[in-house]
Amino acid sequence: MSQGSSSWWGSSSVPVRLIGKFGKRTGYPLVICPFCGDEVIELLSGPGAKNPNKVYLKCCQNEQNVTGTCGFYLFADKYRRMLTNINIG
Ligand SMILES: [Zn+2]
Repeated sequence: MSQGSSSWWGSSSVPVRLIGKFGKRTGYPLVICPFCGDEVIELLSGPGAKNPNKVYLKCCQNEQNVTGTCGFYLFADKYRRMLTNINIG
């Protein structure tokens, strides 16, 4: 597995705000997209995906296969880690 480069939420605190909704599958609080400021939504990956049947969170402006749209998405485990790494409130 790749280590990944330094995360965009990394050391400095990212101004992430909660939407006030919670994911149906994860139960995690949903936040405002740190890229574009729109809502983050929870989805389940399809059978043809690289990681099928996995819950992931993405920006509602993130259109698959459409360039120029917001590129924010995280799988649930990484999203949870992001939530623990940011200061909510
Ligand atoms: Zn976005």
